[in-house]
Amino acid sequence: MIKLYEGKAKIIYQSPDPEILIAHFKDDATAFNAQKRGQIADKGAINCTISARLFQYLAELGIPNHFIDQLSPREIRVRALKIIPLEVVVRNLAAGSLCAQTGLPLATPLNPPLVDFYYKNDALGDPLLTIDRLQLLNLARLDQVDQIYKLALQVNEILGQFFQACGVTLVDFKLEFGCDAAGALVLGDEISPDTCRLWDQTQADPQERILDKDRFRQDLGNVSTAYQRVLDLVLSHPFFG
Ligand code: 5GP
Repeated sequence: MIKLYEGKAKIIYQSPDPEILIAHFKDDATAFNAQKRGQIADKGAINCTISARLFQYLAELGIPNHFIDQLSPREIRVRALKIIPLEVVVRNLAAGSLCAQTGLPLATPLNPPLVDFYYKNDALGDPLLTIDRLQLLNLARLDQVDQIYKLALQVNEILGQFFQACGVTLVDFKLEFGCDAAGALVLGDEISPDTCRLWDQTQADPQERILDKDRFRQDLGNVSTAYQRVLDLVLSHPFFG
């Protein structure tokens, strides 16, 4: 297979059909703009399957996304998209950079949810954008931004309820969007414990409850076990039962 692109967590390969790509999920883990590097055992296979299932669920509920099917434990087939260089973060509870930048206490409820746009640019450290900066840099048209905003909130509604049914709180998550061959806006990338903050509702302890990449970022241990628990909980959802 011809490699088109290798990122921090995935490799993208060509397929015989130019409109279809193959995403291969790696065990490599990075944090703090790749200043911290490591491996999480079985992460690739776990995140691949979680993403596949969540994309399948989102498609069923009307959210256009790039997922076609899962080829193997670490590989999904996806529709080729022209990626919009934005990282769209939806937050239900304050955590991570929001706490660091605003002083809001951890777990402060955000009602309505907060939608933050970041410039997807590793060299610049993925800076937070304003609408004016987004337009200045010509990163997306305003009608696309409006559509992305609405889609991101719909995804939050759907995934928030999905995880609630699994006993997990969806604290925040990052989405990426692109345009398909017809120019339609489509959700891309992955949705996994690498890209979401997920708290186990059966655990009161603020460290024990963490089921996502914060375990790696904060050296909390049992990272792979936590990711596997998310997969088990996702698969336990009635939709897949
Ligand atoms: P924060 O802004 O607090 O660092 O991240 C907010 C949410 O978006 C978290 O769930 C985090 O995992 C996700 N996120 C933000 N930026 C990135 C990124 O560059 N890569 C990944 N994998 N997730 C990100």
